[in-house]
Amino acid sequence: MLSTMQDVPLTVTRLLEHGMRVHARSRITTWTGEGEPRRRTFAEAGARSAQLAHALHDELGVRGDDRVATLMFNNAEHVEAYFAVPAMGAVLHTLNLRLPAEQLVWIVQHASDRVVIVDGSLIPVLAPLLPRMTSVKHVVVSGPGDRSALDGTHARVHDYEELIAGRPATYDWPELDERQAAAMCYTSGTTGDPKGVVYSHRSIYLHSMQVNMAESMGLTDRDTSLIVVPQFHVNAWGLPHATFMTGINMLMPDRFLQPAPLAEMIERERPTHAAAVPTIWQGLLAELNARPRDVSSLVQVTIGGSACPRSLMEAFDAKGMRVCHAWGMTETSPLGTVARPPAHAVGTDEELGYRLTQGRFPAGVEARLTGPDGERLPWDGKSAGELEVRGPWIAGAYYNGADAEPLRPDDKFSPDGWLKTGDVGTISPDGYLTLTDRAKDVIKSGGEWISSVALENALMAHPDVVEAAVVAVPDERWGERPLATVVLKDGAAADFAALRAFLAEEARIAKWQLPERWTVVDAVPKTSVGKFDKKVLRRQYAAGELDVTRL
Ligand code: ADP
Repeated sequence: MLSTMQDVPLTVTRLLEHGMRVHARSRITTWTGEGEPRRRTFAEAGARSAQLAHALHDELGVRGDDRVATLMFNNAEHVEAYFAVPAMGAVLHTLNLRLPAEQLVWIVQHASDRVVIVDGSLIPVLAPLLPRMTSVKHVVVSGPGDRSALDGTHARVHDYEELIAGRPATYDWPELDERQAAAMCYTSGTTGDPKGVVYSHRSIYLHSMQVNMAESMGLTDRDTSLIVVPQFHVNAWGLPHATFMTGINMLMPDRFLQPAPLAEMIERERPTHAAAVPTIWQGLLAELNARPRDVSSLVQVTIGGSACPRSLMEAFDAKGMRVCHAWGMTETSPLGTVARPPAHAVGTDEELGYRLTQGRFPAGVEARLTGPDGERLPWDGKSAGELEVRGPWIAGAYYNGADAEPLRPDDKFSPDGWLKTGDVGTISPDGYLTLTDRAKDVIKSGGEWISSVALENALMAHPDVVEAAVVAVPDERWGERPLATVVLKDGAAADFAALRAFLAEEARIAKWQLPERWTVVDAVPKTSVGKFDKKVLRRQYAAGELDVTRL
């Protein structure tokens, strides 16, 4: 028997129409560095989205599923594009502005982007690459910046404000199939070539509901969220869409992502929530310790993208900013798990332990662990295997060009269609995920696995250590052994024996897991989205570029 319920498509258009009407007064505040921030209500931004859609359609000839790319920081105009492009039936492609030039050109060509909307401040990134981006017919510049560098290329250049000015503030949005492409985002390529993930209207809608659940971020129109995680990084973790569903106010840092302006915007604009990767929080912590500010408004911070070290969580807790740890990836929209402790653990000794896990799975994300020989492993909190997931906001394939079949590589998808995450960990009987490594980063020493993440977290708890990355290096006897790379506090001496003793005694790391190879670096190399780039460390080690001490 079929249901008797209406089959109304779940679309980004609905989020837009709902947000601009029901949450008309909620605000998008964009930081401008000096003077007053740019302030816009959801009603105003929604009207400008309609104007942008008219301009894209009438003036730039955007039709069907044409791709409209953005090369932008987090700001109100970027939010306008987030809604205008999918709602008119086209596909928004957010470009990671920190990618190496070659990859950026490759991605634009691969996606056949027809239009690029670029922040004026990012013209220096786009201009030298534009001649090779042959699919791009139009560049739309938003905000101030020297446009002369864009002259003389094959693309027509427009000004965002001039383009939308005077156009109707409403749009007759088309009826869309909820399974249609709404947005696309390429993985940042930490472990290989970038791969295109294409989100549907339906996946974005359902994911927004998950973001808004009390179990996840649980924010309302009384909140303001400082969205530091870039809009080009998995849709800023779904926040811009989720905000239009519940009216959460957005505080957008634009290009002012350094610790000092972030601290200033928290003090002045008083957000209640913020979302970013651990490296941003490390920087902010150092800034707040050096120059204390009133950050009392900020009571909840979401940390994800890399493991949150215990020391960082405790330091933020001590300042009254409660950390909520979450796990996800480009392929999972990204919310995969959120570390809210279960009711029975709240207020007990167990609470911190739960909060330090990657979190528990929501109903929309099914999970299983697969061992080295393809066997299913139990959720016993001990058996470590590769995490596989499936659900309505999880990718089932990668984009492979307009006319090609989607890509389903064997190392990313199981024969029965589950996403192989490449993350290795355990799941507790009550559904909490603890990642011990990336499949490519585990250290295989004498037939046993050593978790690089466990060693890093333990090292970063030492008062002299600012950052630590541990990678596997070849070893004649054991196959692989850990190399510990540490960034020391200013003025601290490199006493590796003491650090090793600290790991054994304070962190209780088993003796056979303790690194014997050590090196000090000025900074751990980072990927375009701020994660430790272990590929670079392994390469530097292999090339003999690191000054390694053996204990
Ligand atoms: P890339 O794969 O290019 O780094 P993503 O942003 O999609 O781009 O990264 C997803 C990966 O980031 C996950 O597979 C996982 O390894 C890591 N990750 C994300 N969140 C966490 C977390 N809370 N703890 C540990 N690792 C995390």
